[in-house]
Amino acid sequence: MEQLTDDQYVEKNGAVCPFCGSEILEWGSIEIEQRGATQEVSCMACGKCWMDRHELTGYWVVEKDDDYCSLRADGISHEDALAVLAGDMQKKHAYR
Ligand SMILES: [Zn+2]
Repeated sequence: MEQLTDDQYVEKNGAVCPFCGSEILEWGSIEIEQRGATQEVSCMACGKCWMDRHELTGYWVVEKDDDYCSLRADGISHEDALAVLAGDMQKKHAYR
């Protein structure tokens, strides 16, 4: 198949290999950057590797008893909070 463009890849929610179309993918850890994040992905079918680009698009206000605020209440570091968020994002990928 023809290699997917960025738009085509996003259209498919990043759930397929942009090179061979396989859905058997493995995601690495998420690296948080200033305005987004990147995550290495590899295809179990064709062996290619690439980086997913996640963009910071905004924020929403959460109530104080929300999970995300309880992270801060528990006194964990910013880095740990990011790691937890990264784990959530990986779960979303894994269960899609
Ligand atoms: Zn592939």
